[in-house]
Amino acid sequence: MNQPHLTCGICGKQGHRYRRGLCGHCALAEDLRAVLDDGDGCIRAEMLPFFDGFRTMGNPLAGIQWIRRPHVHQMLRTLADPATPLTHETLNAMSPWRSVAYLRDLLMLHGVLPLADRHLMLFERWLRDILTEVAEPERRQLLARFATWHVLHRLRRFAERGPITEKQTQQARGEIRQAIAFLTWLDQRGRTLATCGQADIDGWYAGAYTARRLTHAFLRWAIRNKLLTHLVLPHQATTNPAPISQQQRLATLRRLLTDEQIPLLTRVTATLVLLYAQPLTRILGLTIDDVLHDDGHVNLRLGDPPTPVPEPFAALLLRHLDQRLNLTTATNQDSHWLFPGRRGGQPMTTDTIERRLRNHQIAALNGRAAALRHLVLQAPAPVIAPMLGYTDQQTSRIATAAGSPWSRYAPGNDHAP
Ligand SMILES: [Zn+2]
Repeated sequence: MNQPHLTCGICGKQGHRYRRGLCGHCALAEDLRAVLDDGDGCIRAEMLPFFDGFRTMGNPLAGIQWIRRPHVHQMLRTLADPATPLTHETLNAMSPWRSVAYLRDLLMLHGVLPLADRHLMLFERWLRDILTEVAEPERRQLLARFATWHVLHRLRRFAERGPITEKQTQQARGEIRQAIAFLTWLDQRGRTLATCGQADIDGWYAGAYTARRLTHAFLRWAIRNKLLTHLVLPHQATTNPAPISQQQRLATLRRLLTDEQIPLLTRVTATLVLLYAQPLTRILGLTIDDVLHDDGHVNLRLGDPPTPVPEPFAALLLRHLDQRLNLTTATNQDSHWLFPGRRGGQPMTTDTIERRLRNHQIAALNGRAAALRHLVLQAPAPVIAPMLGYTDQQTSRIATAAGSPWSRYAPGNDHAP
């Protein structure tokens, strides 16, 4: 500025002329007073600290230019109205966000607004924008609940202890993005959280564990809030560097089908674990009513809809069911458990089955659940059956040898009554 020096007509200080004999600071104060006018020629009391702080800023000309910008002018006019609550929420509703962020910093600097975490603020703004993009109202509402009660809740707890780091908000963004992606994916499968089963969870994580790890937050929250059945979330098996391979899985299944030295009950439980990657507790929780056999097809109610049990495994399962139905143990006469335990009214314990598996050197399944689930997705039960190289004839022979009343349902035996 090369204007001649003047003595300001208001403050009397020597300085650059800005307008009508006013120095820059007095001109800024004049403009600020105008924009902050509450309608009665005053400035609302809550805004006075901002007024006093801003008008004495180092570069008054920059201040004058800033408050002249149309959107800044509009924001200040809104805040000048005594009816407008002076809160962070009020600012949250304003745009564009860069100007809002700057104004917010100024209002916090001068004590008009309480100090708030900058990264938290940026996250909240990002969250509002991304939720707006979720068109489906129910899904948006669900995500907003998750964001508020889990993600934001955690960030606010962090903020109480100190400034939030970018890494913390990055994780929070990831959790929200993954939750949105998961719900969209689920919807494309024709499922909702309420109908989501283990196979859906496994399908989501299959081959993309690392990329989708952050979905855990949403799924755990949904399980805690009973929006989702209690399902098993995979975890990277770091303690288990040599998980079972597809080849081992096939070899074990083949042995379970043919090795008559292994008690039938052990063979059936192990087969179900290897075929469907269900935890033992889930297998042992099955009742005889969960085995559905109509129209020559055997289905197992591991979820909804029931899962097909292909031959030759169906024959093995039905053979067990047949023996199981002939139970004469007094305590278990009325038991409906598919694998009744020794204690009346209780299914077998996992300890018992695990001991049996160990006794017969059947590849231990514990701690390998995640890897196993992955294999099951690569080769589900109906794919496994032909992979084992069983011909229809052999399959029917197994069923017939079992003397099962269901042997007529074996494939390749279409002419039987
Ligand atoms: Zn002056």
